[in-house]
Amino acid sequence: MKIYSRRVVLPKSEGGVRVQPACIEVRGDRLVAVQTQADPFDDKLEPDVHHLGDRVVTAALVNAHTHLALSSFRGMGQIDRMRGNVVEEFYYAVESRMDAGDAKAFSRMGAYESLLGGVGTVWDHYYHALDVAQGIADVGLTAVVAPTLQDRAGPGVNQLEAQLEATETLATSAAWAELGITAAYGCHATDTVSDGLWRQVGDLRIKHQLPIHAHLAQSLEESERSFEEHGCSPVERLDRLGVLGGPTAFLMVHGLFVSGDDIDRLTPGREFLGHCPYAQAQFSYPAPIDAWLERSIDVVVGTDCGACNDTMNLQQELRLIAGGPGAGMAWSPALDTYLASGRLDSARALNAARVAVYDRTAPARQMDRLFDWITSAPGALHPGLKVGQIAPGYLANLVVWDFDHPATWPSPEPVRTLVMTNATAAIDQMMLRGRWIGEAGNFHASIVASEDYKDAHQEASERLAHLLNRL
Ligand SMILES: [Zn+2]
Repeated sequence: MKIYSRRVVLPKSEGGVRVQPACIEVRGDRLVAVQTQADPFDDKLEPDVHHLGDRVVTAALVNAHTHLALSSFRGMGQIDRMRGNVVEEFYYAVESRMDAGDAKAFSRMGAYESLLGGVGTVWDHYYHALDVAQGIADVGLTAVVAPTLQDRAGPGVNQLEAQLEATETLATSAAWAELGITAAYGCHATDTVSDGLWRQVGDLRIKHQLPIHAHLAQSLEESERSFEEHGCSPVERLDRLGVLGGPTAFLMVHGLFVSGDDIDRLTPGREFLGHCPYAQAQFSYPAPIDAWLERSIDVVVGTDCGACNDTMNLQQELRLIAGGPGAGMAWSPALDTYLASGRLDSARALNAARVAVYDRTAPARQMDRLFDWITSAPGALHPGLKVGQIAPGYLANLVVWDFDHPATWPSPEPVRTLVMTNATAAIDQMMLRGRWIGEAGNFHASIVASEDYKDAHQEASERLAHLLNRL
């Protein structure tokens, strides 16, 4: 199959993306060739080429951090619960009562929401991982599933051996590979994993060449435990244990209580910050990514889960990142001074502080770099799953966007549109593993109206009702 568009978002060799006319050849589940020219070449196409005109084609998005099953808790973590440590005080209690069938059914719902948001691949992290993987596969997404590993605290302690085994199964089985599903080592967080288990994972990642995907310094309590038990920060402890700077990627999610010295311990190109700004804004505060970027630590973006974000719409995270620095002024001493005095010189000082923040942060927030954080950057973290780019050898996971939609019109610069607008409303169709998903021009409605979705919705709803009854 060959697909042609006048506007295909392609990787540039020096990083970033370009938008060009291109003809993409798909064979089986892969992209096998990409033919490009500077100007449209509509008149030179063979008759059987699928012609998409001016519709924009990108790689399907890659969500670097999800717990799809936790979409079932949406609305349960009421805002008053968010004052404390919502994970320990609330989620653990519900999660410990969720069974494997629940995890599969709930993951399907999170996967459907992801699909409707243009996501083709998720980096999921959860208990009952084989069932989660099956739920993801049922919807057709590809994934790096990290079975949650914990041996000190949390609802997964009694699943440790099973989840280590699940990691190996997902990473080595041809059947899962065929579905575009593989594994990472899913250490839960630094405080719920013993020194022994961290060392074990450090050895196993070398043997199986798998990345690590873990929460890092996501709460004050995690940092307090680290200082009490180990006399150092969570990052320094990982450094002492020898798991930093390893041979495979280490995806560290949140990194809220990480100091400048901690960041200096990390290795660019090995350790990556998983940034989930809307989730962090609910359960804590958005991570200070500029401090990471100044030290050349790369960022990849995820949504986290429906329980702490309320949406799996990954693309919408980018607008918050783009505008994030300005939000800081709302809580700045310069604003307090102006509110108290009302003087023009205070107003000028407030604006000067705003402009200084803009000048310091804007260069790191180019549109194509932000788009990279939800496509090729997370797509490059796992050596066994090539996603997030339109290039030969990559999985044929694509999104076709119709930017004549009122949410995105006009679209003189498609990459800016992809970062700054509600672009997911304008999805025309998707392709996953070389197969078209949904009806062209009627993508969202056709999926929600499908029998598969109706069955998934019914099963998840019934299971959620039973789970809540058990609480
Ligand atoms: Zn998380």
